[in-house]
Formats: sequence, C-alpha cells, structure tokens
Amino acid sequence: MTTAADAIEAPPALKARLDKLDLTRKGDLVLHLPLRYEDETQIDTIATAENAGPVQLEVTVREVSVQYHPRRQLVARVADDSGEMTLRFLNFYGSQIRQLERARDEGGKLRVFGELRPGFLGDEMVHPRYRPIKDGERLPESLTPVYPTTAGVSQAVLRKHIAAALAEADLCELLDDAWCRDHDFPPFDAAVRLLHAPPPGVPESDLQSRQHPAWRRIKFDELLAQQLSLRRAYLSRRQRGAPRIAPVGALSQRLLESLPFALTAAQRRVASEIVDDLSQPYPMQRLLQGDVGSGKTIVATLAACQAIEAGYQAAFMAPTEILAGQHYLKLRAWLEPLGVEVAWLSGSQKKAAKQASRQQVANTAQLVVGTHALIQDGVDFARLGLAIVDEQHRFGVAQRLELRRKGKKMAEPPHQLMMSATPIPRTLAMSYYADLDVSVLDELPPGRSPVRTRLVSDTRRDEVIERVRGAAEAGRQVYWVCPLIEESEKLQLQTALDTHAVLSRELAGLRVGLVHGRLKAEEKAAAMAAFAAGEIDVLVATTVIEVGVDVPNASLMVIEHAERFGLAQLHQLRGRVGRGREASICVLLYQTPLSPIARERLKVIFENTDGFEIARQDLRLRGPGEFVGSRQSGVPLLRYADLEADAELIDLAREMAEYLLREAPELAARHLTRWLGSREELLKA
Ligand code: ADP
Ligand code: MG
Repeated sequence: MTTAADAIEAPPALKARLDKLDLTRKGDLVLHLPLRYEDETQIDTIATAENAGPVQLEVTVREVSVQYHPRRQLVARVADDSGEMTLRFLNFYGSQIRQLERARDEGGKLRVFGELRPGFLGDEMVHPRYRPIKDGERLPESLTPVYPTTAGVSQAVLRKHIAAALAEADLCELLDDAWCRDHDFPPFDAAVRLLHAPPPGVPESDLQSRQHPAWRRIKFDELLAQQLSLRRAYLSRRQRGAPRIAPVGALSQRLLESLPFALTAAQRRVASEIVDDLSQPYPMQRLLQGDVGSGKTIVATLAACQAIEAGYQAAFMAPTEILAGQHYLKLRAWLEPLGVEVAWLSGSQKKAAKQASRQQVANTAQLVVGTHALIQDGVDFARLGLAIVDEQHRFGVAQRLELRRKGKKMAEPPHQLMMSATPIPRTLAMSYYADLDVSVLDELPPGRSPVRTRLVSDTRRDEVIERVRGAAEAGRQVYWVCPLIEESEKLQLQTALDTHAVLSRELAGLRVGLVHGRLKAEEKAAAMAAFAAGEIDVLVATTVIEVGVDVPNASLMVIEHAERFGLAQLHQLRGRVGRGREASICVLLYQTPLSPIARERLKVIFENTDGFEIARQDLRLRGPGEFVGSRQSGVPLLRYADLEADAELIDLAREMAEYLLREAPELAARHLTRWLGSREELLKA
C-alpha cells in the first residue's frame, strides 16, 4: 500500500496524469528511468553545426514575426558569431511572442536545442526547445535525461519531481555488497543516481545501449522482482490443499491397450510427471508444452483417467467449437468403450440439450468436454478434481481461474493442466511463466514425414491450382486457407465466400467444402466431419482450423496471402498437415512486393519446422507482448530488461529469488515493495 509519506505531492490534475504513467509513489519516480539522453553540455555554432542529430546553440534574437503562409506561425531570426538562422513554431502561445520580443529588445541570449535543417532561407529549427539565459550561465555538466511521458506532463515537470524524489526516497541497498561486487553490479542508489544524471565522462553510447553496469544492475533488480513475485505465487499455491489423487492405473492401462499406437518416450515421461503431481496434496499447476502434433491429447486423457478412477470428475476445455467438438468425438471413442460417461457442453447447444448436459455435469458425468460454456454460470460440477485447458494461450487468466473455481462444491481447488502448442521460448518460460511447472513433449510420434514448405508468388497461382487438382485426384485431401482480413469480420467472411466460389469453378469436378467462423456450430461440425470422412477433397477454410484440428489424410495446404499471418499462426496452420504417413507440402502464396519484415517472417517459417525456434525468432521480431498477451494482468511486464539480450541475468535473478525467499524473506518483501508497490497485490489474486 502507498502510505501518505510515500505518495507523490502534486496538484490533483498532475497526479492523475502521473497515475497514467504508473507513478503514484516517490519510489516509482525513482525507478522511472530515462528513455534516452540529450547532450546539452556543449555549445555548437550555426556555421559548424551538422544537419544530423540535435545540436545546442547560443543565439541572440534579431527579428520576431507572426507569419501566415501557409498557416499561422511564429518565426524568429536569430544569430550567433558565426551566422544566422530561423526558428519556426507552428504551435505557440502569445507569451512566447512577448518573450522572444523582449530578448530581441534587450539583446539577451537564448539557449536553443533542436535539429538543424536546411530551409528556404538557410538553416532553420522547427519547434526547438529554448530558454533565455543569463550572461555567463554555466552549461550542465551531465547529460540531460529524457523520460517516458504522457500528454500534459512535460520533461521539466518530470525532472523536477524525480529530482525531489531522489532526494527523499529510500535507496538503501537490499543485496549483499560483496555479492554485488563479485557480479559487477554497482550499489542500487549509485546505479539509480547515475542513470538519472550521468556524470561527465560516462559514454553516451553505453547508456543508450543499456550496457552500462548501472543499467545491468537495474535490469537485474527488475528481473529479481519478477522472479520473487512469481516464486511467491508458486509457493503460496503449495500451501493450498487439493484432492490427493493416487494412481490406480487400471483405466489408463486399458486405454493404452486399446490404442493403435504406443506412447513415445516423451509422452511416457510427461505422463508420469503428471501422475506424481496429481497424487500430491496441493494443486498441480502444470503447463504441458509440445509442438503441433506431438500428441498432447492422449497425455491429458491419461491424467483424466487417473482422476476418474479415483472418483473425481475431469473437465476438458478447448477454445473453439470445432476443436472442442473434435476432442469430444475422440475422447468418447476412446473412453466410452471403457465405461466412462463423457458429457458435452457448448454455447451452441439448444436449451433443452444444455439443460440435460448441466444435469449430467452436476451428477453422473465423469468427463466433461466443451468450450467456454464450461465456465458459465449455472454449470456446477459435482466433484471436479482435474481441469484441463487446451491451447491455454487462447484463454485469459480470468477464464482459467474460473474453471478452477468450478470445483467450489469441494473444499479444495482442482488440479490444473494447461496445454499449449505455441511453444514458449526458454527465456519466457523462465520469466513470465515461472510460477508454473512446465513439461515438454520434445519428440514427435514416429512415422511422420516432415512438411515441406514452398514459397510461391501469387503470380503462379494457376500452377498451384493444378497441383491441388493432382493431389486430390491421387486421393489426398487439401486445405485451402483464405487470406486473413484482420480489420473486418465482414470482409473476412466475404473473402471466404469468394474464395470458395472461385475455387469451386477452377476445380470443377472436385468436391470443394467451406468452413468459416460465421457458420453455425452444427454446420461447422458437419463440414469438419465430412472432411474427416473423406467426403470433401478441398476444404476452403479461415483460421477457424488454426488450432488442434486433426485430419491425417490431409497432406497439402495452401495458404493465400501468407504474408498477412503471424509466425505462430503460420506454424499452427502448417501443423494441420504432416499428420499421416504421406509426405506433406505447405504452399505459402504471397503477394509481391513484400515488405522487409514480411520477407523476414516468411523466411523464418520457410527455414524452420521446429516450433521452439520459430517462437524464438518471433520473440526477436516482435517482443514478448504477443506471447504474454493473456497473462498480462497480474504479471508485471518488464520495462528495462530484455529477455533475449539479458538472458544471463534471468538465471541469476532466479537463483537470488530462491535464496532471498529462503534466507531473508523480509529483504525479499522490501525489494518487491520497491519495484511493484501496490501492484504486488494483484499478483496474489
Ligand atoms: P497435439 O499435441 O497437437 O494436440 P494430438 O494430441 O492431436 O497433437 O496428436 C496428433 C495425432 O497424433 C493424433 O492423431 C494422435 O492420435 C496421434 N498420436 C498421438 N500420440 C501418438 C503416438 N505415440 N504414436 C502415433 N500417433 C500418435
Ligand atoms: Mg491439440
């Protein structure tokens, strides 16, 4: 909590604006560090100043005028010993005119900072920063910080409040001095002061690149706060109770015997990790990561068997109707012959059917499969012991918490298994996901032949069509993915309809189907079932097929306008083929000319099949925002540390977090308060 002594003293309007910058306490101001610096320690001359980058000049004012071409502007002619130039202001106040006129009349000097550009009447500066100075006023000795800010908060105001906070705030060292020296970390207060006001001689480039030891210290502290909060959440979860689900193993055994395949070594390893977790007296919170097609479903199903056999219910939630429906069919086929009652719950069910399903959930159902409908009001599980969330990154934190709460009839929360085929790079797993246990399926089932990827310019679309015809006539099935139109759902639908019409014409004689987001659930299910049964040759689809869909006979995929898709999305889509024994091909059609970033993205997807490598490249190209998306609320985003560049600091921060929580919990608490303040409360939710 923010105490009164700690709160920033400012007028209410300014306070509200500072709030927007997440600045409520003096301590927050101390940690509000510069984005960059400006060098005001030297004076250039008009004649010698360069036209690249900002310069500082000292000038006298010759003429001041308000001109009207093409729009109203304030123009001043100024000079120093070396020459003359123009200052131009397109937005200005009356007081500015008077100030410049006074400088003109009295011959006072202005210090001007900005970029010099060649103009119509020689060099000029547009909207320079300037201020009148006294004769002989000294230059600042340190670089001038430029802070991240928001509308209505000037740099000058920020600087003033930050300087005041630095004078008062508690900057005491919380880490061991010797340890800091050993790791080349300056003390906390020295690091903070240096970054706010770098003394002369500190190379600007080290500050800019954030490689200076002071930056390293700050980045370490930030990562430490993150590790501490996640680690604390992890430990507090272990204090909570959960049903202890001891393995019997008979049901799992019968399921395994009925399968046409044997588990991979990776599947066996992960399955046994889960067996252990479920038999602990505290709730499992495990993330099962495995690339597209690595066989996560069966692993989750084995976990469900353990819960069911012990007399609990298991819930299996998937983010789309199509995927949930497919899971339902598969799980029923696997488990009903073994005498397990499987229920289905989805938003599109008719009222009576939904009512019946809810009755089942509240009473006899042993496994419940469905969409978000699982977490709606009115759904009450009789004895939920295990909640499985497929493609967890598609759900928000709140939704996952909600499923956990569905066990409320019982004294204890259910165990949670989350699955994701969007691989989380190691650095992310160690930072944003550090409160979870992570299992990785790092092996694909045998007998898959890798998908070959082709990049083909849209100008060769006709050849691709012929290829599709050839494949279909040879008995293979084809996905044709419509261009993504993110801006408009209506346009997206129209594009899907158009693509279907055109392809039906161009591929006359073949059975061309269509599935898109606006179809009714039964229509989608029917289209998918027909495709799975081999009654459709070419399935025109939007990204509704992106996750989870599994039709092994489909071995050719064409993605139109591939340059519009994200990397993770392309990888997921491509994962829909290569699921059978047939060699599979993914054709990425692109429209020329390609932007440099689109070219780079396509190159990544062309050169890599490993989802982890693709995710790593994606992180490099886009930063962590997209991955973290649904986790953001509650998990502090990093402001200074960079997961890729500062990977070595993450390891160190993790070790330190464990040490502090064990040996010096009060220091850990003070560090968290320093960095997170009241936001820490959110994390405990
Ligand atoms: P994902 O990890 O993408 O969810 P799935 O669970 O859908 O993958 O599995 C992909 C396909 O591989 C399914 O058809 C599944 O039945 C099959 N499969 C899973 N494990 C094995 C295995 N060990 N050997 C052969 N096929 C397997
Ligand atoms: Mg899956």
